[in-house]
Amino acid sequence: MSEIKNFKMYINGEWVESSSGKKIETLNPETNKVWATVPEASEVDVDKAVKAAQDAFNGSWSNLHPKERAKFLRNIADQLRTNAEHLGKIETIDTGKLFKEIKTQASYIAEYYDYYAGLADKVEGTVVPIDKPNMQVTTTRIPIGVIAAIIPWNSQMLLTAVKLAPALAMGNTVVIKASELAPVTLLEFAKLIESAGLPKGVVNVITGLGEPCGKALTTHDLVEKIAFTGGPETARHIVKNSAENLSQVSLELGGKSPVVLFNDADQENALNGITAGIFAASGQSCIAGSRLYIQSKIYNEFLDKLVKKAEGIKLGSPMDPDTQMGPLNSFKQLENIEKNIKATVEQGGKIRCGGKRSSISNEGYYFPATIIECENHNLPTAENELFGPVLSVMKFENEEEAINQMNDNQYGLSSGIYTTNLGRAMRVSKAVRAGIVFVNTYRLISPSAPFGGIKDSGYGKEAGIESIKEYTRIKTTWFNSSEDPMDDPFTMG
Ligand code: NAD
Repeated sequence: MSEIKNFKMYINGEWVESSSGKKIETLNPETNKVWATVPEASEVDVDKAVKAAQDAFNGSWSNLHPKERAKFLRNIADQLRTNAEHLGKIETIDTGKLFKEIKTQASYIAEYYDYYAGLADKVEGTVVPIDKPNMQVTTTRIPIGVIAAIIPWNSQMLLTAVKLAPALAMGNTVVIKASELAPVTLLEFAKLIESAGLPKGVVNVITGLGEPCGKALTTHDLVEKIAFTGGPETARHIVKNSAENLSQVSLELGGKSPVVLFNDADQENALNGITAGIFAASGQSCIAGSRLYIQSKIYNEFLDKLVKKAEGIKLGSPMDPDTQMGPLNSFKQLENIEKNIKATVEQGGKIRCGGKRSSISNEGYYFPATIIECENHNLPTAENELFGPVLSVMKFENEEEAINQMNDNQYGLSSGIYTTNLGRAMRVSKAVRAGIVFVNTYRLISPSAPFGGIKDSGYGKEAGIESIKEYTRIKTTWFNSSEDPMDDPFTMG
């Protein structure tokens, strides 16, 4: 048996164990065996990390010229490119996600740091056209302070980059809390932060449970903003926690993203797009296109093709370059998927393929691509976020019905439309209540494309030009240019 590796947290530029001595074991989803341990941060550790970030903020970081901060961001980008393969390997072992995807992603994430490095010195203030004589009023963008970045287990390098890069560019300092389900990648990333030469305390990476670690961080009185990505239940705790320190909150939550296929769609393209949307990353993506509405004329023909394609998906080791779907991240996820499928079948859902855990391994949490026909989208698999490779399929007759069905869900993160009719694509993309719409494509990201949802999928966009401003506050400064004394001090001017 291979040796269990031990990782440390990164606080104030030092590698430390938890003050309590407690550890979290992390499993390799492929083997269901513990492969590493990380410290379980206590309230004391959280306090140390936040205070280190506060000291770094008050030290030189917030006052450094943006161009200087940009150099550090570019250093991080270089480190990511150089170490993409290593980081990819670690993330694959810890999460079960495919190595071939993750290693490319680790290198692409470098683009986010370059993008915000480029933006760092382009955020300008204003001169306000003020309605008072002899007054000049300016607004400037100032950093917020210590940011708590709470990261889920999936896509963690991306979800860290969209918080960390704009936060650092604008002069904030950061405490990153990794997920207890797959904490090692971010500790390895902290080594790259160290190599990139950032001053101590500017970025701290801690590992711990939701409680006490996450709670202590999100209620800490020195934390000024919480940038959270995760599930809606945790988000409710986060918002309550923020009442303690009155910090600003951004929420990137789950989804149950609808995809619609019209009679006139290019079916070959749609087959690939729909497959990418729900079966890539074994459906463990917040934007997974997990509700599919097919127009009645092509319903049977297209569904048969989709089932055939899904049945051909190759499950296997996430390190194997031929594997198309690896294991799920945790046993809890597998059980939740099985529970929802069972309830859906009891209520009339028809399994067209998959539906039962795979026998390819007795150890990993393998679940095959699953397609379920549902009479209506109120059945459990069609309504709930499953975070797995389960597609619920419904039939519709016309455009109006499709729009109503797409919008009839608590979430509003992503959506997909397949049609060759440009007018229809424009009408439906305008009407769908989601933060992201993919037309004749799916599952793309870019540093310049804002990402985020509406409704129960959260608020506050990440990536793109605008999101850098979410890491600033506006300061208003009044300059009095008059030589005369101020007027009556007891009336407001
Ligand atoms: P999760 O909500 O269980 O955990 C997310 C993070 O919150 C973890 O670091 C966890 O330790 C922390 N946490 C838990 N309780 C806390 C508390 N009381 N206070 C502070 N922090 C606490 O999510 P997960 O299972 O790791 O990830 C899956 C979820 O994330 C899915 O719902 C998915 O849709 C969502 N997600 C959303 C996006 C997006 O950008 N919208 C991207 C990826 C994942």
